[in-house]
Amino acid sequence: MSPKYVYFFGAGTADGNMKMKDILGGKGANLAEMAGLGLPVPPGFTVSTAVCDLFYRNKKRIPDAVKLEIEKNLKKLEKTVGQDLGDPKNPLLVSIRSGARASMPGMMDTILNLGLNEKTVAALIAKTNNPRFVYDSYRRFVQMYGDVVLDLKPVNKDDIDPFEAIIEQKKNERGIHSDTDLTADDLKDLVVRFKAAIKAKTGHDFPEDPMKQMWGAVGAVFNSWMNDRAIAYRKMYDIPESWGTAVNVQLMVFGNMGNDSGTGVAFTRDAATGENMFYGEYLMNAQGEDVVAGTRTPLPIADLKKDDPKALAQLEKIRHILEKHYTDMMDVEFTIQQGQLYMLQCRVGKRTAFAAIKIAVDMVDEKLIGEKEALTRIDPDQLNQLLRPIFDPSEKAAAIKAGRLMTKGLNAGPGAATGRIVFNSVDAEAWAQKGEKVILTRIETSPEDIKGMNAAEGILTARGGMTSHAALVARQMGRVCVAGCSDLAIDYAARTMTVKGRTLGEGAWISIDGTTGQVLEGKVSTKPSEVLQVLIEKTLDPKDAPVYRTFAKVMKWADKYRTMKIRTNADQPDQAANAVAFGAEGIGLCRTEHMFFGEGKIGPMREMILADTLAERKAALAKLLPLQRRDFAGIFEVMNGRPVTIRTIDPPLHEFLPHSEKDQRALAGQMGISYEKVKTRVESLHEFNPMLGFRGCRLGIIYPEITEMQARAIFEAAAETKKKGIDVEPEVMIPLVGHIKELANQEKLVRQTAAAVMKEKGVKFKYLVGTMIEIPRGAITADEIASVAEFFSFGTNDLTQTTLGVSRDDAGRFLTPYVEMDIYAKDPFEVLDRDGVGQLMRMAVERGRKTRPAIKLGICGEHGGEPSSVEFCHMIGLNYVSCSPFRVPIARLAAARAALMNAPKAPAKKPAPAKKTVKKR
Ligand code: PEP
Ligand code: MG
Repeated sequence: MSPKYVYFFGAGTADGNMKMKDILGGKGANLAEMAGLGLPVPPGFTVSTAVCDLFYRNKKRIPDAVKLEIEKNLKKLEKTVGQDLGDPKNPLLVSIRSGARASMPGMMDTILNLGLNEKTVAALIAKTNNPRFVYDSYRRFVQMYGDVVLDLKPVNKDDIDPFEAIIEQKKNERGIHSDTDLTADDLKDLVVRFKAAIKAKTGHDFPEDPMKQMWGAVGAVFNSWMNDRAIAYRKMYDIPESWGTAVNVQLMVFGNMGNDSGTGVAFTRDAATGENMFYGEYLMNAQGEDVVAGTRTPLPIADLKKDDPKALAQLEKIRHILEKHYTDMMDVEFTIQQGQLYMLQCRVGKRTAFAAIKIAVDMVDEKLIGEKEALTRIDPDQLNQLLRPIFDPSEKAAAIKAGRLMTKGLNAGPGAATGRIVFNSVDAEAWAQKGEKVILTRIETSPEDIKGMNAAEGILTARGGMTSHAALVARQMGRVCVAGCSDLAIDYAARTMTVKGRTLGEGAWISIDGTTGQVLEGKVSTKPSEVLQVLIEKTLDPKDAPVYRTFAKVMKWADKYRTMKIRTNADQPDQAANAVAFGAEGIGLCRTEHMFFGEGKIGPMREMILADTLAERKAALAKLLPLQRRDFAGIFEVMNGRPVTIRTIDPPLHEFLPHSEKDQRALAGQMGISYEKVKTRVESLHEFNPMLGFRGCRLGIIYPEITEMQARAIFEAAAETKKKGIDVEPEVMIPLVGHIKELANQEKLVRQTAAAVMKEKGVKFKYLVGTMIEIPRGAITADEIASVAEFFSFGTNDLTQTTLGVSRDDAGRFLTPYVEMDIYAKDPFEVLDRDGVGQLMRMAVERGRKTRPAIKLGICGEHGGEPSSVEFCHMIGLNYVSCSPFRVPIARLAAARAALMNAPKAPAKKPAPAKKTVKKR
């Protein structure tokens, strides 16, 4: 049997259903599902995503076999609705829309009113007796077709659409301001002018034959899969190019047939706050694009009670049917044609982090979904938004009092942003690259602006509603957004924005509050979010913090289902305290060298490095000992019995040395030696490749007294803490081990020191000695290393650097283009390279456990807080991940999702003695 490429839907039945997104795209699958549910869907058919691939392989032509199937389904559609395409008496008009597997709002092209030509226009006028409506539809069709199929769309950022220019010219000639003042004759004349512009640009007449129009439009939709903005969007949201788009051909229904018609979009719950209320916008006597494009500011859905109460009641009913059926918050598009409601689209609605969490939690309470399902619906990265700052209320109040409140728009994307005004997307990107914080300020945004929106701190628009492109995309990106600020006058050419007589130019500072919609002149500093105020600042009571309470519920569920522990990377007691507040269960990495930059420590540290003799070095180390001991004791106290992994000194020594003459002279004075001596010693420590040089365990092996001092500081602090009645569990970690003998050398020192301290202090405490796995040799010989190491912690920053042979510090210049060129799908320093670095980790896990089944395995590279990497860590069976304090909630959720989405791994077996493979120590 030949494969099926075209799927019909309508009149209560459908060939497809919502599970067929891969084949039908999201829009097609959901249209089929709604039709199957008996909802009022205009009939039509979906050309499958497989055809997109065939199209590109067939020199961008629709294969003949598919054409035949499309023609067959077109006949069926004609029969179902009793209208024929191109029929001069009763013409069928269709819409042609894209629809990929994942929603890509506004990124690809759409053509409406297809089937109109000189003859069918006449038929439609005779049928509707509404020439203005018919010519308005006709001019929209010619305009869209011209833009999309015939490529008349502007290419430069300052150009305007040639058709919009013609409309402006016509309005000027007629002395009118609004499109709605254009008469039927004006619109008819616009069609003539549009066609002339097309002829002038392309050298061809506008196609009159509806079949020709159809093939052009279907091809254009497939073509739009590869347009710049679709490519950029896919890159941003990890949508594979191979998925392709489907094309939906559907009976046109008109929201612009008069005042008994209208169109709108709605969310079954509030997409910004998650509140359980019907949230939408509509416009009477308008076509779909008017609502989302933001050219007219729409009305709230509740107002439909006045304009069409019957339709509103029907929509409310459909809202409940859809939520129950899909068990999710849905985003719908509808049209009312002369009092008859039609559903044009439904999909799972995009939402802010606030809304995602609230909806998931509410739906568990409403018994629509279970806890596990709720967790899989919250993207761990979204939690970032909950931790984002808000304006300092007192500073904002002062700014308002001082008259800096310029205006108020719609609170389209919550959060607070302050930055400098830029007026186009290209500038937003360029300024952001230079490190400027910018607010992208536009009359309205279009999908072309996506990169600039991503680069900006916030987005401010003069037009458009809560569901306008700006609002939708901003929410999805987690950008602060104030939309539909109607008293904002923006002059792109002059690069100014004016509100009530106050003008600000490009580069001026502005602050926008996406939670309230307020726009303030100048900078306003920001303050921690509600979650932070409860957990970190401890200035807010959870009972006054509904967002926090929902967040806490999600975290509780996450903890119930995750199997990995979550630790944190912290080297200060306050950082450790923050991490514990966020739910950290231990410290996975305390970088002791960070402590040397603390007060009073850099001096003795430098003395230690510059010492000429062992005695001098020991004297300097003796000064450092009490300082380190105090640091460790502080951390142990905060961690209160939780495990703490402390790493011995790691970075190249020259990082601690003074490099300017002034600093070198100061150090010479402090040490009582000559400036020349300091200078010579610093020069002698120079390395060509410090990252592969004298660092890590190499330091402690060559200068054992450093390791001894650090181990002593750790254990003395442990003894002190234990004496205070606080449990301690230090884990001493040796960095950059590639050979078992390196580890064995350091282990011996650590254990000797531990025994000495226990004896001196008369206190016993548990401790472990382990290693970082961060160079390939360490991973490859993990079976040997595990005979000494009681734990491994994957240092994936270095392991990535050493596996890829890519410097952590110098990669920027080529890694960004590498990612753009898809050589690496993601920056491997951000998202773990599963196929390379990941395989070494997997090998080390297997080999390590073979030697020491109960070995503790974790990760402390930056990847430990990145959701996809956390998932991989779960998959290879790590016991814990460790990440920076603010990423702890993200890691908790990511670990739970990983556990829910992946089959459980065999847990670590019962402890057994290690097989010793080290021959000589
Ligand atoms: C690592 O290499 O992953 C690591 C955690 O150590 P550092 O970043 O300090 O080199
Ligand atoms: Mg490292």
